[in-house]
Amino acid sequence: MRELADWLLGRDNFLLFCHVAPDGDTIGSSLAIALALREKGKRCCVKVPGGVPQYLRFLPGMELVAEGEVPFAVQCGLAVDVSAPGMLGENREVFESLAENAVLDHHDSNAGYGQVFVIAPRRAATGEIALELIEALGVPVNRDMANCLYTAISSDTGNFNFSNVTPETFVSAAKLVTAGADVDGITRRLYRTRTFARTKLLGLALSDARLVMDGRVACARVTRDMFRQAGAVRSDTEQIVNYLGEIQGVEIAILGIEVEDGTVKFSLRSSEGYDVAKLAQSLGGGGHERAAGVSLSLPLDQAMKTVLEAVGGIL
Ligand code: 5GP
Ligand code: MN
Repeated sequence: MRELADWLLGRDNFLLFCHVAPDGDTIGSSLAIALALREKGKRCCVKVPGGVPQYLRFLPGMELVAEGEVPFAVQCGLAVDVSAPGMLGENREVFESLAENAVLDHHDSNAGYGQVFVIAPRRAATGEIALELIEALGVPVNRDMANCLYTAISSDTGNFNFSNVTPETFVSAAKLVTAGADVDGITRRLYRTRTFARTKLLGLALSDARLVMDGRVACARVTRDMFRQAGAVRSDTEQIVNYLGEIQGVEIAILGIEVEDGTVKFSLRSSEGYDVAKLAQSLGGGGHERAAGVSLSLPLDQAMKTVLEAVGGIL
């Protein structure tokens, strides 16, 4: 962490990179680091593949998100919460073309890339280590950074509910609340409010749910047609897979999202004892032991069959 902090302090003109299908952890952590770098007099922008989902647009520092041209000559890249170069999506080439780049992440499956990387697989969210990085930069955490980081940690822990939560998670959260994080406002936006479109999509996806393998596996599809019917977008699929995992008796939950015709993104969740990161990796994806994903270039039903076969192999 010291090495990464010194690497950042010795440079300028940064571009921060979020992962595809961006969530609260990748965006919140990136914005907090960008705000801290700005406090140090550095120029920086954040690249978010596909743009910031509507429900996260309340985050402070949104003005640092570069939608088009970056208003300075970028010298260094920092990938935040991005488990592999492929997860940079449309920005992969830009990242790889930079002379100097670094990585801050917490995914077990991250093999390490970039010139400097900090990967902390036991930490629940990149937000936790982004807080440590900001401390190592010598920047006091202000209310804006605290709101970004609290959002990051809450997002990846299901609001401090999942098995990835450790004492450090609560220590980080306590620091952020002390620094002014708005717990009620953030949890309301993340967990107690959803658009009508998201609500409809949830209903359509759950209507599609099936139990297989003696009820130990639940799977559901989100088709292009469901997106159209609900008026929903890709980010509206977040958390749907959790409902499948909550079905009594289910040990592995699979959501297949038809991102476009012939491309299916899978979200995988498991209960204790089943490593879906390994399973996802065997198909070309990755993630965490209990929450992982993979994209397959196959028609939806064929893709689902492929994943179910792989799941059958580990049950
Ligand atoms: P989600 O299902 O919420 O999209 O992703 C769960 C976890 O798996 C996240 O940590 C995410 O970064 C990771 N993940 C999802 N899809 C992929 C993928 O295609 N490749 C890799 N390496 N990781 C993925
Ligand atoms: Mn994360």
